[in-house]
Amino acid sequence: MEQMERGADDKFHDECGVFGVFGSPDSSALTALGLHALQHRGQEACGIVAFDGTHFNSRRALGLVDSTFSHASAIAQLPGHAAIGHNRYATTGDTNVRNIQPLFADLACGGFALAHNGNLTNAHTLRQALVEKGSLFQATTDTEVFLHLMAVSRKAAPCDRLVDALHQVQGAYSLVALADNMLIGVRDPLGIRPLSLGKVGEAVILTSETCALDIIGAEFIRDIEPGEMVVITEEGIASSRPFEKPRNPRFCIFEYIYFARPDSFMENRSVYEMRKNIGAELAREAPCPSADLVVPVPDSGVPASIGYAQTSGIPFELGIIRNHYVGRTFIEPTDHIRHLGVKLKHNANSAYIKGKNVVLVDDSIVRGTTSRKIVDMMRSAGAKEVHMRIAAPPTKYSCFYGIDTPKTTDLLAHNYGVDEICKLTGADSLSYISMDGLYRAVGEIRRNNDIPQYCDACFTGEYPVPLTDFENNRTGANVTDLRERQERRSR
Ligand code: SF4
Repeated sequence: MEQMERGADDKFHDECGVFGVFGSPDSSALTALGLHALQHRGQEACGIVAFDGTHFNSRRALGLVDSTFSHASAIAQLPGHAAIGHNRYATTGDTNVRNIQPLFADLACGGFALAHNGNLTNAHTLRQALVEKGSLFQATTDTEVFLHLMAVSRKAAPCDRLVDALHQVQGAYSLVALADNMLIGVRDPLGIRPLSLGKVGEAVILTSETCALDIIGAEFIRDIEPGEMVVITEEGIASSRPFEKPRNPRFCIFEYIYFARPDSFMENRSVYEMRKNIGAELAREAPCPSADLVVPVPDSGVPASIGYAQTSGIPFELGIIRNHYVGRTFIEPTDHIRHLGVKLKHNANSAYIKGKNVVLVDDSIVRGTTSRKIVDMMRSAGAKEVHMRIAAPPTKYSCFYGIDTPKTTDLLAHNYGVDEICKLTGADSLSYISMDGLYRAVGEIRRNNDIPQYCDACFTGEYPVPLTDFENNRTGANVTDLRERQERRSR
């Protein structure tokens, strides 16, 4: 499934991209280009705040980067040598203008703009306490909690106020922030969400993914370390540690499986290569010697399919063709039309499918609705056998760290075993990569069950950061219900 629209059906949704520039007269234009490259991480809204040495100027709008920042006039309104930008996919808060980032506040220490990728797991608890003390929240996104915590900090400098706030929040986040002549980047203590540092000419760049460095001709310097803060000024880049270096960082393993763009590097590893490795492991763990073809579910299943095909020696073919021009706006008024609508996005390449035994490779099964339809489509196109191979372990638990997952109870693998899921999807066989196979594919010998090397909570339910809001509101309801309740309260 293509990344730009992959949140449109039963897949996980990507949660925001952040980008920042310091030291270029074209900082807004560079930020707009960076946001284009990060569009797959959020398509609901986007925004840029630039600093011209005196004023902070901002433009924020619902919709894609292209529709907001493609005109020179939009960039001309954002002069300055430093800027930050954000692509939003909402995991907390409504989809409306007041929640679009970067957020901005006039604090006692001066203007401060902030953009955030991730999710705070105690935002609601902090928010309630702040509101009781008189804070007036303008938005319903968890990001605003940072600004209110900074506003009540007794520290003088913006960085120190931010550190005060960081010590109170829990969760997974990458932040970019803009203060008077200063760009700041912070990564959460366990490094769950990504943030990279780059350079183009004299300008310093912060970005969620390295693919955004490529688009502006910037070179990759390094990843921001888990728990590290970098402050970029005219004097250079200063690194500090608001948090101790973690003994066991917990980078989100799903970035490798699905979220990140395959041309990005994360933790010094090529995402594309990781996905091919996963496919190769899958071919070793779950071979399908009777198959004639390996077919990816486009587009996110492609690299793993290539790995599967190369390792198994079974030919790779594009047996499903993806229509790249179908957005989320297709209205499905009846079941009949809805059923037809599936073929708008994916269609079987019947010339290659008819009479063949097919291995269908997908990155994950979430609710299972797409898998059922694709298996059906293969059979209608004349496939003799359809064998599903999944480049992730069964997805059994919701993510609380910034990836919008369905309710735990809506996750197919939470409710059914592999054999049952196989029957439900209508496939002839179904195999998922094992947890150790996944860890091998991303460069580990195996999963260290005492101290796991990654966050893999959506497979294991072992959450590395406390779920304070969830625990405080535990009523037996799932996380989506919780989020809905939190939102209703905060409206
Ligand atoms: Fe990533 Fe899953 Fe952990 Fe969420 S729960 S941060 S999706 S590995």
